[in-house]
Amino acid sequence: MSDCIFCKIAEKSLPSTSLYEDAYVYAFLDIHPINPGHTLVISKIHSATFLETTPEVIAHLFPCVQRIARAVKQGMRAQGVNVTINNDPAAGQVVGHFHVHIIPRFEGDGLSLWTGKAYGEGEIAHVAEKIKLAL
Ligand code: 5GP
Ligand code: ZN
Repeated sequence: MSDCIFCKIAEKSLPSTSLYEDAYVYAFLDIHPINPGHTLVISKIHSATFLETTPEVIAHLFPCVQRIARAVKQGMRAQGVNVTINNDPAAGQVVGHFHVHIIPRFEGDGLSLWTGKAYGEGEIAHVAEKIKLAL
């Protein structure tokens, strides 16, 4: 897509710090890391979100994500990694080209991604029903 910064990064018309590349996938360092080594993995085929991409892209991309996540953890001497995908602005997506974040994590690094809520009485069954109806 012509005005997409991650398409431009994948085709090298914008610079990036490359980690891995094959015919379908490009992995590079996030320019504003949550922790050093924060990596982005993208498909060279543009889709806006994970929900809109194809099974073929997913089938090729996720083995690469696993391999790169292992390398990020080992290379950065991290104690853990978050592998996350933000989909749509409400979920924190800023760049509209499907990408997977790999974030090295360290005990006591002070990052907190989740704050859990409580279900009300009977609510959990109702919520499950709404999702199952959409499957
Ligand atoms: P999102 O919030 O869309 O899931 O994440 C987008 C990520 O892309 C952010 O973590 C941001 O720092 C990173 N990013 C945005 N623009 C650039 C860029 O031009 N180069 C690189 N390497 N990362 C970028
Ligand atoms: Zn794109």
